[in-house]
Amino acid sequence: MQYMVVNVETGETRRLLGNSLLEKDCPNFQVYEFVSTNKSEIVLYSPTLLKYLQHLRNEFKRAVVITSAHREIAFNESVDGYEDSEHLYGLAVDFRMYGIEIERLANACINLGGYYCNVGKYSNWVHFGISGYHRRA
Ligand SMILES: [Zn+2]
Repeated sequence: MQYMVVNVETGETRRLLGNSLLEKDCPNFQVYEFVSTNKSEIVLYSPTLLKYLQHLRNEFKRAVVITSAHREIAFNESVDGYEDSEHLYGLAVDFRMYGIEIERLANACINLGGYYCNVGKYSNWVHFGISGYHRRA
């Protein structure tokens, strides 16, 4: 399946297959991992957030298991996401890493993202959002 992949930082749109890399310097992340639902054709993603995820992948040497990335509006409603969720804009990822405590992952995200990031700790995943980068101006 082909997707319309939108880089939310530049607005660039590309048609890519699900198994394509989003960015060539982030070799562990493919388009399908960022797809909202199995009916979605549009995928929004942030290269900045992707680079952070690749950094975590390299640092911990474990797979980043993405449980939610970009969400279309209807899907966000169905999972009781916030009305103005960062996931709607491709600016957040929920993920876990097997064998790494949530607390430790969350701290690693904060170290990478700094003051403007939004890190949420949940029982089974970490929410890593960077919409603050876009709102500070
Ligand atoms: Zn989230």
